[in-house]
Amino acid sequence: MLSTPFTATILGAPRIGPDRELKRAVERYWAGRIDRAALEEIAAGLRRDTVAALSAAGLDSVPVNTFSYYDQVLDTAVLLGALPARVRGVADGLDRYFAAARGTADIAPLEMTKWFDTNYHYLVPEIGPDTVFTLHPEKVLAELKEAQVQGISARPVIVGPITFLALSKAVDGAQAPIERLGELLPLYVDLLGRLADAGAEWVQIDEPVLVADIVDNGPELAEHVYSTLSGAANRPAILVATYFGALGAALPALARTQIDGVAVDFVAGGDQSVADVPGLADKLVVAGVVDGRNIWRTDLAAALSRLGALQGSAKAVAVSTSCSTLHVPYSLDPEDGLDDALRSWLAFGAEKVTEVVTLATALRDGRDRVAAEIEASDRAIASRAQDPRLHNSGVRERLDAVLAEGIGRGPAVERRKAQDARLNLPSLPTTTIGSFPQTVDIRKARAALVAGEIGEAEYTKRMKAEVETVIRLQEDLGLDVLVHGEPERNDMVQYFAEQLHGFFATKNGWVQSYGSRCVRPPVLFGDVTRRQPMTVEWARYAQTLTDKPVKGMLTGPVTILAWSFVRDDQPLADSANQVALAIRDETVDLQSAGIAIVQVDEPALRELLPLRDTDKAAYLDWAVGAFRLSTSGVSDATQIHTHLCYSEFGEVIGAIADLDADVTSIEAARSHMEVLDDLNGIGFSNSVGPGVYDIHSPRVPTADEMVTSLRHALDAVPAERLWVNPDCGLKTRKTDEVTESLRNMVQAAQLVRAAQ
Ligand code: GLN
Ligand code: ZN
Repeated sequence: MLSTPFTATILGAPRIGPDRELKRAVERYWAGRIDRAALEEIAAGLRRDTVAALSAAGLDSVPVNTFSYYDQVLDTAVLLGALPARVRGVADGLDRYFAAARGTADIAPLEMTKWFDTNYHYLVPEIGPDTVFTLHPEKVLAELKEAQVQGISARPVIVGPITFLALSKAVDGAQAPIERLGELLPLYVDLLGRLADAGAEWVQIDEPVLVADIVDNGPELAEHVYSTLSGAANRPAILVATYFGALGAALPALARTQIDGVAVDFVAGGDQSVADVPGLADKLVVAGVVDGRNIWRTDLAAALSRLGALQGSAKAVAVSTSCSTLHVPYSLDPEDGLDDALRSWLAFGAEKVTEVVTLATALRDGRDRVAAEIEASDRAIASRAQDPRLHNSGVRERLDAVLAEGIGRGPAVERRKAQDARLNLPSLPTTTIGSFPQTVDIRKARAALVAGEIGEAEYTKRMKAEVETVIRLQEDLGLDVLVHGEPERNDMVQYFAEQLHGFFATKNGWVQSYGSRCVRPPVLFGDVTRRQPMTVEWARYAQTLTDKPVKGMLTGPVTILAWSFVRDDQPLADSANQVALAIRDETVDLQSAGIAIVQVDEPALRELLPLRDTDKAAYLDWAVGAFRLSTSGVSDATQIHTHLCYSEFGEVIGAIADLDADVTSIEAARSHMEVLDDLNGIGFSNSVGPGVYDIHSPRVPTADEMVTSLRHALDAVPAERLWVNPDCGLKTRKTDEVTESLRNMVQAAQLVRAAQ
């Protein structure tokens, strides 16, 4: 190895800007309010600040090319010439890129899906028979140069060929993209040469797919690909970066090649043994010991002993975050509302960089050099371990007691009888998923409340007026089961987190979810209990306005966990059960308030599915258990609904049935109801509401189209088990679209009913 090993790095940095500058800039660019030059200047400024800060903090190898105007997988598709044919007509490069990301009036965008088990979404490249891979390295070369001009030791980061193809989808009858690996390797070899010529000492090639059971033969592919790439005559030192789990057999496979370093995730991957892996002794191990995905302060002493144990096994050990810090907020600085103890337990992006540098200093100069930092970390860890907010014996005992009583409900047939008698609904009952459009007035009222311009009473009054409008609208349209419309909810997770003990909401803890969209996940730090009923007043009020049943609307425990930063000092299952207990109390209170139907949404059930097959059953077991705990406190006559935002159930289909909800609404419009056959295939016999139209599009569907969908559905599901609803919540749509679409939906249900 010619290049000198470095000692301290992170695998990638956030790009959205500490105050979401990039988000605002691209959105203004899309709206035509700033020009290209202004956008590029803002982006370049953010990149400069990012690398300068990382270097100044003491990293001796700084990742570059982790900036993106939208998504790093889309950037890789551009790098490899793999944009779909339908965008090629857009002459300008950046506009073509945005067309692929977001679509235009006539171009459909690429699909979007979750990046491994995170809440970041990437764009799914389409590989078809007409895809001809060609190299377009301008972006990575430019970002390398920018950093070099600043005098910074920059390490370009690119998505690796196995990961890129494994995450792509075949289109137009093409073979599986991974079959085309051989075509990509010469491009990567070419790229390595250009990076070397441009003065890159190291290159980081990301292959997170190697920790997941996505490709069948990951280790063999890894050995083949990295033998080829490391055999290139002209190249920088190669770091293959893996994250989000344990490498297993892929580690020795990589170690057998001539790459120069491998990044290993010791947080998500646990104590992976690197001792006695042949070939590792002449490589740099970049040890991900600082959690790049969660916001807890690192136990420096524990990290140091882990690093010490690695030292004999590799040529050199560098300290790193476990993955890119893309997944955590920029800095703790703006979080001035936290008590000292809570604050001392946390490390956001900037603080994690400091931890990395501290650990690297200890490795190089001995722990005495950083004795004060280690002591502060020890104190914080001890304070967190002892804090009474994490050890509420009351809730723990109650949870044990409820679990001991069992989390089953009565037999489904008995429940159905009791519910039918109580609800007296027509066949093919019509309903919606919960939210109605978040209108300008609603947003204004919330902003005014946050700014202190109006008080709680005025805000509540305005929201109640919204509820009334939405109830009247649903009555006029003739829907059978109504909702209050969720105007009071900023977000389906944060709304609950703000009302539960054990959570806090950050002030500025934004992380990129996709493109310019950012989310602010709450932090679940302690034992969870409900202060008081959270939604009952809204549901009760809505029910006073109508004789039709109003559904109570709750977010399920798995989704609340999936979209929060969760404490790491106990199994996720334990935290899920505490949240479930709070939701259970809420369902019981809704029932007492006269609400006959309660919906517990679990759109994120599939998202937390572990990356390794061997871990999936245990996850589904606790996830289903938490849902059942949250929904089994009510009587048989109370109808439980759930909603899932996708139609490709795949490995979770059995779990969907095990949830045992009385009614499950799902996305189905785009998959032509095929999902119903899958559900039948596993003997699912509760009611189902396959979405009869796609709410993600502004188009108003005709009644005829929905009649066709319903007839398809009736081929698979008898009328007494079929519900009629859109495929997701309506909050992002306009009132006019929603009104017309629902009018047509109700008409479609009536037409099909009449023909029964
Ligand atoms: N009840 C929520 C809504 O209607 C469900 C949102 C979701 O499916 N993600 O908005
Ligand atoms: Zn949904």
